[in-house]
Amino acid sequence: MNLKHYTILLLCILQCWIESCQSAKVIPTSMPIYAIRNVNIIPMTASNELINNATVIIQNRKIVAINDVIPKNATIIEGKGKWLLPGLVDMHVHNLADINFSTNYPTKGATLFTDNQDFMSLYLANGITTVLELSARVEHFGQRNEIIKGNIIGPRIALAFLIDGGEGSGNIANTPEEGKQTVRIAKAQGYEFIKVYSGLNQATFNAIVQEAQKQGMKVVGHIPNVFRGKLAEAFIPNYSLVAHAEEFSKQSKSFSFSDAQRFAQLAKENGTWLTPTLITMVRIAQQTHSLDSIKNSPLLKYVPPLMQSKWLLSNNYNRETDTKRITRIDSMVIFHQLLIKAFKEAKVPIVTGTDAGVSGVIWGFSLHDEIALLVKAGLSPEEALVSATRLPAQWLGIEDKIGTVGKDKMADLLLLDANPLDDIANTRKIAGVFINGRWVNQKSLQQMLLNTEKHHKANQGKDEFDWKKRKSF
Ligand SMILES: [Zn+2]
Repeated sequence: MNLKHYTILLLCILQCWIESCQSAKVIPTSMPIYAIRNVNIIPMTASNELINNATVIIQNRKIVAINDVIPKNATIIEGKGKWLLPGLVDMHVHNLADINFSTNYPTKGATLFTDNQDFMSLYLANGITTVLELSARVEHFGQRNEIIKGNIIGPRIALAFLIDGGEGSGNIANTPEEGKQTVRIAKAQGYEFIKVYSGLNQATFNAIVQEAQKQGMKVVGHIPNVFRGKLAEAFIPNYSLVAHAEEFSKQSKSFSFSDAQRFAQLAKENGTWLTPTLITMVRIAQQTHSLDSIKNSPLLKYVPPLMQSKWLLSNNYNRETDTKRITRIDSMVIFHQLLIKAFKEAKVPIVTGTDAGVSGVIWGFSLHDEIALLVKAGLSPEEALVSATRLPAQWLGIEDKIGTVGKDKMADLLLLDANPLDDIANTRKIAGVFINGRWVNQKSLQQMLLNTEKHHKANQGKDEFDWKKRKSF
């Protein structure tokens, strides 16, 4: 085909696309006008000056005015005695999405399906309006589009493409050239961030981080194992966010505060932020002792049955446990608290993340555990809330849209029955959530959770991949 024919073909495709769009479903842009009145705003801006008894007007998914006249046709939400803050952000999640766990052949497609609404309801019911998916694959684009189209109510989702080294399957790079090419492919496919993993060799890690910078993609992830004993060499420009406190505790023999301070200094000098995922290690520690924490969790009913069966019947943390391991993991839980103190002292930005999807870490609910753990480790309630709102928005590069309450910001908001600055446990007292301009009150949130529970109960034990039926995929 010569260039002329190719151009004509492209124009035909474009014409067909435009025509089909005209008949396709149009994403609704007009939404009801809402006014929250008499509400106390915790804006989470740098000055964070509270605005008491305020009126917030929301139109077409945005906050259009604060303390202005309420439009006649507005739906009124009474905010008296309530507290309004930005929707929360979980910067480390693993969302379930359709997947093929079976043998493949052309046209085969997925074998295991996720009910996206049942799943996303867990975030919504917990006031989480943005998440960062840290092992994104094609199905996550579809999931995200369902939310954008309004077919599913769920959070904004940022997508990070995971690259590992070694012999495994997946996105593997073992040379600088492979690393650079993998980054370019991820960019071309529409991923927004790169996640680096433990098996990368040093030269490939360096090449990935540099190429990602060239492509305008920040790098988040593990500190590859190759940096044991030479940690400073991992801190190169554009290595922007360490995905776990554990990445540092793996580097410490003594679990001393001076080690924590040394790590904080390295991060500070390189402009690298931290997602501690404290709750992950707390849950892992519980499971190394016994599975009671999972068996007795009142929230297990919200976990898809297949994951319930995996967490209970094929739990590696519990299966491979011994006294030495238990002692080490318990010490890590304590050391992580020291890390938070040291990172706070060094003024390294900390953002909230949970690693939701790891056994025992339940999507949505676990973010409130993480926020509470950060306060326990020494952050003030306000600092912990900054870590869950404004800072993640900044890291993601969408601080002009979310992360603070103000005029022209997207209406991603959390309305609480009590002030979280007085007691951080109040983040769980949710009166309602605005998600992308859509209001969902507490009653509806509870109904959504009930639906999730009901569907999981009905599906219990039915899937052929259930761990009771199969010992491996
Ligand atoms: Zn993870």
